[in-house]
Amino acid sequence: MQAACHPCVRAKRPAPTVHPARSPSRSWTVPWQNGAVGQGLSGARVTVIGAGVSGLTCALRLAEAGARVRVLAAQPPPRTVSAVAAAVWYPYRAYPEEMVLGWSRRSREVFDELAQVPDSGVILRPGLELFWTPRPDPWWKTAVRSFRHAEPGEVHAGAAGGWRFEAPVVDTGRFLPFLLRRLQDRGTTPEIASFATLESAAGAAGGDLLLNCSGLGARELVPDPSLQPIRGQVVRISNPGLDRFQIADDHPGGMAYIIPRFDDVILGGTAEDGATSTDEDPATTAAILRRCADLEPAVASAQVLGIKVGLRPGRPAIRLEAERRGSLTIVHNYGHGGAGVTLCWGCAEAVVGVCIRSLQPDS
Ligand SMILES: Cc1cc2nc3c(=O)[nH]c(=O)nc-3n(C[C@H](O)[C@H](O)[C@H](O)COP(=O)(O)OP(=O)(O)OC[C@H]3O[C@@H](n4cnc5c(N)ncnc54)[C@H](O)[C@@H]3O)c2cc1C
Repeated sequence: MQAACHPCVRAKRPAPTVHPARSPSRSWTVPWQNGAVGQGLSGARVTVIGAGVSGLTCALRLAEAGARVRVLAAQPPPRTVSAVAAAVWYPYRAYPEEMVLGWSRRSREVFDELAQVPDSGVILRPGLELFWTPRPDPWWKTAVRSFRHAEPGEVHAGAAGGWRFEAPVVDTGRFLPFLLRRLQDRGTTPEIASFATLESAAGAAGGDLLLNCSGLGARELVPDPSLQPIRGQVVRISNPGLDRFQIADDHPGGMAYIIPRFDDVILGGTAEDGATSTDEDPATTAAILRRCADLEPAVASAQVLGIKVGLRPGRPAIRLEAERRGSLTIVHNYGHGGAGVTLCWGCAEAVVGVCIRSLQPDS
């Protein structure tokens, strides 16, 4: 295990502490689907590997279900791929579609609730998806609000058409700290620790269950060679007054998206299969700015605030299941591709169900 190096994590296991409410919203709990989950994990000790959006939302749901939760991660939340995400609700490069539809719909419902909470980092935005090649309606259209075909006057002059819908935009710079505060309220503070194998993680952590939310790290940790990086680069700019997101994955200049958050806007993007560099490519930055300005001219006058690069955890299918290795039970939740934020709440609730079943004596 490595020493802690970031202020939002601790090196040693903290004594559970419950912090008093610091604002009215701090007593708020995300409602569960079909009512309360109850205390189905009461007394169970669960160790979560990973402090990205998957690990933190699972940890929170597990704690709400009564588990004593410990979170161990090689990188703290601000240094995860989750901190790079744009992040608009949008099921991109995540499979299988029939599972993604339910998980992403459930997440959208929770994000709708969170948009009412001032410090959550979630805001509901109207959006426009444009396409240059005509296509059928998207398979996920029933999961969003207000889906309709764009009128001819609403689309870019060169585009073949578009869709209008409303979706949550999640500012991960605010949302990840929000999740950390919720977890701290329940006595869990992530600890920095890097593992070579799941067995070594289980040995170091103890507990009844190990939950693997290590994102692309699962490629070595499991190991799972079916995980492949999908490199993405984004540009953060000042907000020139935009309140609508735009997505155009087949823009003639390359993939383009414009995601207004609160004070800033994330411009994208790229999706390079197998690329592993997390260094900024200046030519890519220039190309992103160019094609986003083609979609929305106001972008050209905005100030560039920063560049971020992340490696999405691409996999042919999300892995959300229990695995037995001798006496060790591991629950996996990784491989969310370009939709880890979009899926986080739906998957976290499914994970709690898998954990409860895994701990039943006859399982
Ligand atoms: C440019 C870009 C734009 C994106 N836009 C969107 C978007 O608009 N909407 C959306 O929904 N998604 C988006 N995504 C995808 C999203 O970011 C990912 O799907 C999501 O972050 C995956 O979250 P995770 O928690 O599973 O993994 P991560 O965020 O990668 O977290 C993994 C955690 O596991 C830890 N870990 C890994 N290996 C080990 C180990 N061996 N030992 C201990 N700990 C370990 C890491 O340190 C980290 O804490 C985007 C991604 C990129 C790169």
